[in-house]
Amino acid sequence: MASSMAFKPFTGLRQSTPSTTHETTSFKSIKISPKIKASITSPKLSGRNLRVAVIGGGPAGGCAAETLAKGGIETFLIERKMDNCKPCGGAIPLCMVGEFDLPLDIIDRKVTKMKMISPSNVAVDIGRTLKPHEYIGMVRREVLDAYLRERATESGATVINGLFLKMDMPKSSDAPYQLHYTAYDGKTGGAGEKRTLEVDAVIGADGANSRVAKSISAGDYEYAIAFQERIRIPDSKMTYYEDLAEMYVGDDVSPDFYGWVFPKCDHVAVGTGTVTHKSDIKKFQSATRTRAMDKIEGGKIIRVEAHPIPEHPRPKRVQGRVALVGDAAGYVTKCSGEGIYFAAKSGRMCAEAIVEGSENGKRLVDEGDLRKYLQKWDKKYWPTYKVLDVLQKVFYRSNPAREAFVEMCADEYVQKMTFDSYLYKTVVPGNPLDDLKLAVRTVGSLVRAYGLRREMEKIDA
Ligand SMILES: Cc1cc2nc3c(=O)[nH]c(=O)nc-3n(C[C@H](O)[C@H](O)[C@H](O)COP(=O)(O)OP(=O)(O)OC[C@H]3O[C@@H](n4cnc5c(N)ncnc54)[C@H](O)[C@@H]3O)c2cc1C
Repeated sequence: MASSMAFKPFTGLRQSTPSTTHETTSFKSIKISPKIKASITSPKLSGRNLRVAVIGGGPAGGCAAETLAKGGIETFLIERKMDNCKPCGGAIPLCMVGEFDLPLDIIDRKVTKMKMISPSNVAVDIGRTLKPHEYIGMVRREVLDAYLRERATESGATVINGLFLKMDMPKSSDAPYQLHYTAYDGKTGGAGEKRTLEVDAVIGADGANSRVAKSISAGDYEYAIAFQERIRIPDSKMTYYEDLAEMYVGDDVSPDFYGWVFPKCDHVAVGTGTVTHKSDIKKFQSATRTRAMDKIEGGKIIRVEAHPIPEHPRPKRVQGRVALVGDAAGYVTKCSGEGIYFAAKSGRMCAEAIVEGSENGKRLVDEGDLRKYLQKWDKKYWPTYKVLDVLQKVFYRSNPAREAFVEMCADEYVQKMTFDSYLYKTVVPGNPLDDLKLAVRTVGSLVRAYGLRREMEKIDA
């Protein structure tokens, strides 16, 4: 949730508006080949509507399929595991509840208090500026994902329980993609049955290990490995976490990320992540547990899970009539590791571009239509990703910097900017005088923290 920390001191780093269509790993501008034609030249379909397959039924896939089906597209959603329980902290911003019309009964907890805990265990409460109706939602992914898939079905999508294997590329600009998958429905038995499906376009929403991305040689991204234990703690201890989450920073819990304790319906999720020291992840997890020990002691581990988290977008996110969304595309913010909202949003945006380009399923789409989603996405979210990238580099790189970071979090102005940016996914315009004061305090905190380290080193020597 450290998302969007103190945007304003870093406004100089923002790119105002990425000018042209572009697509790179780091959102730098690259001109797109002029060969791509506009959708208006795409042929009209006769006797049928556009057919689109969405691979993967997480938040990205569920939201893409719902939007496509509502827009008149013949939609297929292929999900390998209907009760999939994606390893995830499950924290979602308030705006997602409204924007995606989520029912409140799928939200386990409404977090209104967040404790940020420094390497020396200084704890700062960072929910003080929240208004009475504001909160961070905590969901279980098996519940959220099933709900979004169900809504796609109700909107008219055909949901297939199957494992996508590969696809044959079309031989011409209007030929179909042939998808190969193993179907696991009631008729096919445990091992499943090999089947094929012909579609006009494909959305790859199949997560960090995306096979769709491999099919279009989309290239790799750097990733963090995140580890999480779900721990059932005694009711008396659960009361403490009723509406409270914790974030721990320090070399012990992660050299480049943070450790967390997030509350769920009847347990807490305790986890951490790292990009740079993946083989030490269990050591970091153990340190996170130790840091939270007085609050989770007596708990029983009920689930252990781990998964990659992408660090930046893939080199390629669209090719022909295939587009990547969510983790498959690489849309997780650094610093916070937040990806649920961005997955749902990118799935919806990509589907909207297809609905629009195909005139509600009446025309074939082409690469130009799909690239419109990329243009819109990069324009809207480039600053958020860039700022969080910089914040991670400044504040997560050493214990003194982390102490300074936690000290800064005590500032009400920082809290307001942070929460507004996280909850509503907008870069909130700040007050220039407060921005200046904050910039001075930031430098002051960093200088103090490094000074303290030098003193400690002298004592140790
Ligand atoms: C430990 C951990 C904690 C996290 N905590 C948070 C958090 O608190 N808040 C937050 O916002 N983000 C968090 N994230 C990131 C978040 O989980 C992802 O960004 C998000 O799940 C991306 O959604 P998605 O739909 O793109 O992909 P996924 O959720 O990964 O969904 C992909 C779906 O595709 C299916 N699939 C994969 N391959 C195939 C195939 N070949 N055929 C058919 N189906 C397939 C999978 O079964 C899955 O259902 C966390 C990640 C981790 C690992």
